[in-house]
Amino acid sequence: MRNITIIGAGQSGLQLGIGLLKQGYQVRIVTNKTANEVASGRILSSQCMFGTSCSYEKALGLNYWDDECPAIEGIGFAMNGPDGNQVINWKGKLEQSAQSVDQRVKMPRWMQEFESLGGKLDICDAGIEELEQYATEADLVLVASGKGEVGQLFKRDPERSAFDKPMRALGLTYVNNMPLEDEYSTVAFNVIPGVGEYFVFPALTFTGPCHIMVFEGIPGGEMDCWKGVDSPEQHLALSKQLVEKFVPAQAHRCKDIEMTDDNGRLAGRFPPTIKHVIGTLPSGAKIMGIGDAVCLNDPITGQGSNNASKAAKVYLDAILAREDQPFDEQWMGETFETFWSIAKYVVEWTNGMLLPPAPHVQALLGFANTHNETAKKIANAFDTPHDYFPWFMQADAAKKYMESVSAEA
Ligand SMILES: Cc1cc2nc3c(=O)[nH]c(=O)nc-3n(C[C@H](O)[C@H](O)[C@H](O)COP(=O)(O)OP(=O)(O)OC[C@H]3O[C@@H](n4cnc5c(N)ncnc54)[C@H](O)[C@@H]3O)c2cc1C
Repeated sequence: MRNITIIGAGQSGLQLGIGLLKQGYQVRIVTNKTANEVASGRILSSQCMFGTSCSYEKALGLNYWDDECPAIEGIGFAMNGPDGNQVINWKGKLEQSAQSVDQRVKMPRWMQEFESLGGKLDICDAGIEELEQYATEADLVLVASGKGEVGQLFKRDPERSAFDKPMRALGLTYVNNMPLEDEYSTVAFNVIPGVGEYFVFPALTFTGPCHIMVFEGIPGGEMDCWKGVDSPEQHLALSKQLVEKFVPAQAHRCKDIEMTDDNGRLAGRFPPTIKHVIGTLPSGAKIMGIGDAVCLNDPITGQGSNNASKAAKVYLDAILAREDQPFDEQWMGETFETFWSIAKYVVEWTNGMLLPPAPHVQALLGFANTHNETAKKIANAFDTPHDYFPWFMQADAAKKYMESVSAEA
């Protein structure tokens, strides 16, 4: 029986580990936090997941929260003009709804499932010494450590990494008492030119349904303001102030909000980075990265967990197809390239969203104001970002698209 060790019990590590157990593999997951520590700790993400990723979880029977978790039925987009008035405001319905289950709820439950299927869960903050040991014991060692330090074993790929510094200062607030939107629920995405973005959507946490407010501040700008905000009260007050000041159209929804819990807040920043997938230990042994450890995106497009889930699916299929042959460097490289054939679109689109919108993007977003099919097309490509290519990403293709749609009307 083949034997795989995975470092990290997050989205990619657990989804892959459980997938492998279900195929009869022997799997050990080594992680640095117990289920209780994850459940009682700080929030980790806003983890909005779209149809394709949800279907991978469902195929493994991991969709425990479908009945409780509020459905996210669309994407909303709003942008103010220079005078502060809204110039763009539309909603596009998703063909398959999205959902966000607090990782403090999801990962402990998945850890339990992993163990009940016969997986070995070790609690250890794995470093080089431990990895050397695992490499002698397992047929394959995968590092699914997210933004954890051990990921430094993988080298940055300068050709695939567009930035070398954080592009947004992030703030996250989980709240109760925010009313749902009229008509249908969305990820309500608001662009504040020169300042950043604010998006908000329904989710499920351990106290029940809630909303997650995400602030993406341009570094050095007015929304890069979380330093010294230490208490839950300060964090909530600042979240409200930011909405009132920069997104007044959303302020009425924040009148009565309260934090879901004292840990329902997060602030930080990191540079989006793509790495080489193969790491070499001092002994020469090879290890392989997955998820954020090697493909880290800014959360602006809400793709990280989706990518981690898609990576877990690609790696699972590749491991099964490998049967008894060795997991050598060639296989590792080819497996990552299969994933990259999906992820490269996510990365290019996400990185594009971190820069001031190009004129053709502004034109398309404005066009969607009056053409709901375009709004729907933009919304649904959050699930399948390759669908933004080329019509959303290239000026010529955007022009052609708008001309052809206008000619049909
Ligand atoms: C503010 C913010 C908002 C986000 N919003 C979204 C969103 O809306 N939609 C979306 O799809 N994604 C979002 N993401 C990204 C998403 O949460 C991550 O991309 C996803 O969780 C990555 O999964 P992963 O398996 O690679 O790593 P993680 O889920 O981060 O798991 C890493 C695991 O490794 C463990 N670990 C780390 N180091 C070690 C070590 N040395 N030894 C043992 N264990 C270790 C950790 O404890 C953890 O269990 C957001 C992220 C942030 C920061």
